Amino acid sequence: MMHESDSVRALPIITFDDDELLTAASASAAASADAGVAVDPATGAEIGRFPNQSIADLEAAIDTAEAVQPEWAALDDRVRRAYLHRAADAIEASSEALARLLSREQGKPLNGPNARFEVGACAVWTRSAADTELPVEVLIDDGENHAELHYRPIGVVGAISPWNWPMMISIWQIAPSLRMGNTVVIKPAETTALSVRALVAVMNQVLPAGVLNVVTGPGRTVGAALTRSPKVGKIMFTGSTPVGQQIIEASAANVTRLTLELGGNDAGIVLPDVDPAAIAQDLFWGAFINTGQTCAALKRLYVHDDVYDRVVEELAAVASSVPMGVGLDEGNLLGPVQNRNQFDVVDRLVESAKASGARVVLGGDPDYDAPGNFYPTTLVADIDPHNDLVLEEQFGPVLPIIRYTDLDEAVRLANELDYALGSSVWSADRDAALAVAARLRAGTTWINSHGGLHPAVPFGGAKKSGYGREFGVEGLKAVSEPHVING
Ligand code: NAD
Repeated sequence: MMHESDSVRALPIITFDDDELLTAASASAAASADAGVAVDPATGAEIGRFPNQSIADLEAAIDTAEAVQPEWAALDDRVRRAYLHRAADAIEASSEALARLLSREQGKPLNGPNARFEVGACAVWTRSAADTELPVEVLIDDGENHAELHYRPIGVVGAISPWNWPMMISIWQIAPSLRMGNTVVIKPAETTALSVRALVAVMNQVLPAGVLNVVTGPGRTVGAALTRSPKVGKIMFTGSTPVGQQIIEASAANVTRLTLELGGNDAGIVLPDVDPAAIAQDLFWGAFINTGQTCAALKRLYVHDDVYDRVVEELAAVASSVPMGVGLDEGNLLGPVQNRNQFDVVDRLVESAKASGARVVLGGDPDYDAPGNFYPTTLVADIDPHNDLVLEEQFGPVLPIIRYTDLDEAVRLANELDYALGSSVWSADRDAALAVAARLRAGTTWINSHGGLHPAVPFGGAKKSGYGREFGVEGLKAVSEPHVING
C-alpha cells in the first residue's frame, strides 16, 4: 500500500538488535540445503546463512518490480521523498545492529572510516537522493518555440554491488533509482550478501512492497541474468572491469542503460615542497581506508626524490601505529582482507615486488596459518614503476611508493594505465597542484587528500574505470529517461 507524505513520515519502525537483524537477513535460508554461508573473514567462522537463489527467483523479483513500478512512479515526488527519508530513519534506528553485522561479514572495524561510518553514509546518501532537486528544464521559450526537458523513470533498475562497501554502494544504486520513480532489483556480492539483505530488510519496513527487491545468488548466473533481462531498463554496476565488460556485451540486445563504476588504480603525486609530517596521516588514510579495499583509494604513490625518504619514514610511523584486528574489537581501525581470493591477489603482488628487489619498509610477512585473512599493513619503497604491484590493482593493505625526479615522467606514469578513477596531487602550493591536476586523466583529482566523497559531487571513472556518474543531480539524471516536450 502506498501512502500520502505525512503518513509516510509516521510509518512505524523497529529498532533491530543483532539477532533480529540476522534473522531478517537470513530469511528462509536455514531450511534450504544449498543456502549460502556467510563467513567472518577475521576468524573463518560461519556467521549466518542466506538463500542461494536461482534465476527463477530473480525473474519473479523482476516481475514484482515491474508490476509495482507504475504505481510507484505515479506517486507525487514529495511522497517518494518522504519514503526515502523514512527509510533513512529506519537505517538510523537499526544503525548499531547494521554496523555490527557489516563488521562481522565484511571484516571492517566498527570505528574509524569503517562500519559505523558506512551505515551513517547510507542514511546521508538516502536523504541526499531525496532532497536533490531535478526540476523540469525550460529549454526554449521565445514566443515561437517552447521546449521542456522532463526526467522520467526508466522502469526497473538492476543493481549489482561489490563486497568492499556493500551497504553504502548498494544505497548509491538504490536511493536515486527509487527517488526518480524506478523500482529496484539488487544482486549483492556473494561474500557480503547478508549485509545487503539486512539493509534491504530494514528499508522494507517502510517502503511499499515490491519497490525494493534483493536476490542473492552467484554473479555469473543470477547477476548475468539480471543484466540480460529485457524487463530491466538500467543496470547500475559497481565491481571489476572484466565483469563490467561482460555487462556491456550483455546490454547490447536490449540497449540497456548502464552506469559502470569499475576498477581503479589511483595515483598520487607528491611534489617536492610538501611537509612530510603534515601530510602523512592523510596519505595513509587515502591509501588504507577500509584496509585498502576501496575503489578510489590511493594505490600507487609517486614521491619526489627531495622528500622521498622523509615521506616514507613518516608514512611508516603512521602505518605502524594503526591497529589491525577483529572488527568487533572497538580498538581496531584496520581489519582483514574480506575474502581469501583477494588475500591471494595481495600476497602475489607483494611477492612480485619482493622478487624484483623492492624494499619492504613495513609488513609483507603474513602469517599464513593464522585464522582469518589478515594481511599486515605493508609499505613497499624503491619499487620499479612497472612492477606488477604498481601496474595491477592490489585492493588490500599495501602501498607501493615510487621515487621520481622528473615531474613530467611522474605525470606520464600516473596516466599510463587503463584505469582512471581517482588521483591526487600533494603540494604546499595550490596553483602548482592545480597545474599538475589538469594534466591527470581521472574522474576525480583531489588536492592534498585522497578519496573523500560528497553526495552532491558527481563520482565516476574515466577510461576503463567505467562510465556514467553517481551522486547529486548527475546521479538522478543517470537513472532517468530525458523526455522533451516540444510545443
Ligand atoms: P566483481 O566484479 O567480481 O563483482 C561485483 C559484482 O558483480 C558481484 O555482485 C558479483 O556477484 C557480480 N558479478 C560477477 N560476475 C557477473 C556477471 N557475469 N554478470 C553480472 N554480475 C556479475 O567485483 P568485486 O570483486 O566484488 O569488487 C572489487 C572490484 O570492484 C574492484 O575492481 C574495485 O575497484 C571495484 N569497485 C569499484 C568501485 C567504483 O566506484 N568504481 C567501487 C567499489 C569497487
